[in-house]
Amino acid sequence: MDLSSNIQRLQPSATMAVSALAKQLRSEGRDIVDLSAGEPDFDTPEWISTGAIEGIRSGGTHYTPVPGLPALRKAIADSIQRRARRAIDWNGVVVSSGAKQALFNACFCLFGPEDEVLIGTPYWTSYPEIVKLARAEPVFVAGSEGRGFRLTPDEMETATTDRTRGLLFSSPCNPTGSVYSRDELRDVAEWARDRGVWLISDEIYREINFSDDGSPAASVFDLPQDSVGPHVVVDGASKCYAMTGWRIGYSYCEPTLAKKLSALQSHINSNPATPSQLAALRAYGDPDRAQESAAEMTQAFLRRRDLAVRLTRDLLPELPFVPPEGAFYLFIRVDGAFGRDITDSSGFCTWLLEETGVALVPGVAFGDDRYVRLSFATSDEVLEEGIRRLATAVSSR
Ligand code: PMP
Ligand code: GLU
Repeated sequence: MDLSSNIQRLQPSATMAVSALAKQLRSEGRDIVDLSAGEPDFDTPEWISTGAIEGIRSGGTHYTPVPGLPALRKAIADSIQRRARRAIDWNGVVVSSGAKQALFNACFCLFGPEDEVLIGTPYWTSYPEIVKLARAEPVFVAGSEGRGFRLTPDEMETATTDRTRGLLFSSPCNPTGSVYSRDELRDVAEWARDRGVWLISDEIYREINFSDDGSPAASVFDLPQDSVGPHVVVDGASKCYAMTGWRIGYSYCEPTLAKKLSALQSHINSNPATPSQLAALRAYGDPDRAQESAAEMTQAFLRRRDLAVRLTRDLLPELPFVPPEGAFYLFIRVDGAFGRDITDSSGFCTWLLEETGVALVPGVAFGDDRYVRLSFATSDEVLEEGIRRLATAVSSR
């Protein structure tokens, strides 16, 4: 088949593929312990869902403006304003069909042929694919393993050329769970400012942060304004309000760029689904209640993080991992268990799924073939069963 060069290098999403395979095997009757899914196992809080149900009943079934309902954009801008402690122009908010689309809009509008975009390794699997769809070049920068792979300006400097146009990363990080401190984030932002590089900060896991005082992870909005050059912040409702299926994300940037993001979106899918926006409006319109719901879920993730870390240390002492400080993933180094039959992370995950029914995502999907990703966004029982099976299988090697 003669397909366009637009998609010549395109790979399907590995995270989506593993979850789909796990679900398929389960539907065929296999005993599957699915630790692959990158989504909260909680249902959306009822008080948020009600916004959509009531909205549909009162006619909320039509198009909205492309960048979202003004009330929703204003509520999001207010929520940013409260923490940034400065005026935030709601015209800079573009609501999209998930944070994924917000990232796509930003990369497609900012980067193109000949441009290089730095991506911290390990990275969320869609980053390089999105950059390639914009026909730009992803350039991978490996942070040091001992620092939880968080990037420093020196590391970014070594990967920078006169074609570098952007830096794309997440904190808390998918897949490592590493979280940049405010000072580390400021260093990164100032480096991007000084280099004239677009900073794309993916803060979708911001509220799922395991700090002692329960505060969210540091955000670009927490930094002094003069530390930050041109930037786009991406966030959304999927993770913090357990709304993955509703497809609501947003970007925040200067209003002139926001107009371009919206113009792009106007030709792709117009506005995100209206009932979904009406549900999100409940959440962003009632920040105290939303924060309570998010904090409740974060408490559960924290408990499971502790359980996953304890079980992995006890049962798999030979496998190192990155101690997760946020999000809901454990990034475990498994190359010590490779051998003649298993030589990479995909081989490891296939073997594990066949032998034990445990589904993990191979690290190669995140740019590090020595690791696998385990999601602890699941019940304590499933988590415990999965890690026990993993330990039994690894010790049999
Ligand atoms: N960024 C990161 C780091 C993610 O893990 C995800 C996972 N879904 C997204 C963005 C996309 O989120 P959404 O489901 O809102 O598109
Ligand atoms: N972000 C989640 C993950 O990393 C969901 C799947 C996806 O959107 O890629 O597993």
